Amino acid sequence: MESEIRSVLARIAHPETGRDIAESGMVDSVSAADGKVTVVLRFPKARDPFAARIRMQAEQALKERFPEAQVTVAIKEGAPKQQPPKRESATKSVGKIIAVASGKGGVGKSTVTANLAATLRDMGYRVGILDADIYGPSQPKMFGLEGYAPDAVQRDGMDYIVPARSAEIELMSIGFFIRPDDALMWRGAMATNALKQLLHQTMWGGLDFLLIDMPPGTGDIHLTIISEIRLDGAVIVSTPQQVAVADVVRGVEMFRHEQVKVPVLGVIENMAWFTPKELPENRYYIFGHGGARAYAEQAGVPFLGEIPIVQSIMEGSEQGRPSVSTDPYVEGYYREIAEKIVHNTVEKC
Ligand code: ADP
Repeated sequence: MESEIRSVLARIAHPETGRDIAESGMVDSVSAADGKVTVVLRFPKARDPFAARIRMQAEQALKERFPEAQVTVAIKEGAPKQQPPKRESATKSVGKIIAVASGKGGVGKSTVTANLAATLRDMGYRVGILDADIYGPSQPKMFGLEGYAPDAVQRDGMDYIVPARSAEIELMSIGFFIRPDDALMWRGAMATNALKQLLHQTMWGGLDFLLIDMPPGTGDIHLTIISEIRLDGAVIVSTPQQVAVADVVRGVEMFRHEQVKVPVLGVIENMAWFTPKELPENRYYIFGHGGARAYAEQAGVPFLGEIPIVQSIMEGSEQGRPSVSTDPYVEGYYREIAEKIVHNTVEKC
């Protein structure tokens, strides 16, 4: 009988959306007992102008269908209890999804993401990057893809967005969709919605690894990513002088939080030292030494390795080609770190 009541209600459409009230999740509850039919309709919008009319239509239709019953239709306001079913996320086909995060901006998180992606590609993996750094989406520049305008395509009745591609790395960036001169406040509000689309609708071509370049710190965008998709691990990038500060600790704790439980694959110390060309044996620890290793040990997370300050790293970012592709000295450091990440991902996930 309850399914019959629902099918009677399904014939009533909300005039504003044109969708039937059952499909739109507006039927909050239905019961039929002792000659009584009771229905509660829920209107997501406060003081919906069509509420009274829909209620009357529902009562009439139910009385016609069940003339013997005592029909009551009540109304509530608020978001529907039953959300419409979520579409399947396009990240479902991605092997491992790894967030690259940092406590603060400017520590080299985006540079590390780009070089790690290129290293994993050189190790034979299919790699994609999702650039979610709304404060400074720099991946398009790192791969020479500025100005790329993503295409939309339809597959099986669903809309997808086509990522950019450079040297066999697939790239989707929030930077393709937001205007850099928009105030941060608006960028934040718009970015959350745009990002949800990028997370679920990017048409990745069968990736082994998707690296997500997170915004620095901890905030709404992090929550969106953590709650919308499955993260298989997180990597934290820090400079020596930033590692002990509260931002890094908060970043690690965000992923380890009981309701999140994303494995922290390890900490990378970037800009660890400087070696001048004319003194190749010397290492100058400009920003201090050993902090990241000590922090990792104390926090109980793996230490993945150090990357020195190298001119080719900075130049590679400027020229749209990650330095690991051209400088074997840099490649060596990244290879060691990437191998640990692969190992830790497989082991922990
Ligand atoms: P974040 O994403 O953390 O804000 P970026 O990746 O944009 O930081 O890096 C900030 C700047 O530092 C860039 O100009 C980048 O080229 C430079 N940089 C990052 N890592 C290194 C490094 N190891 N050696 C030299 N320059 C680096």
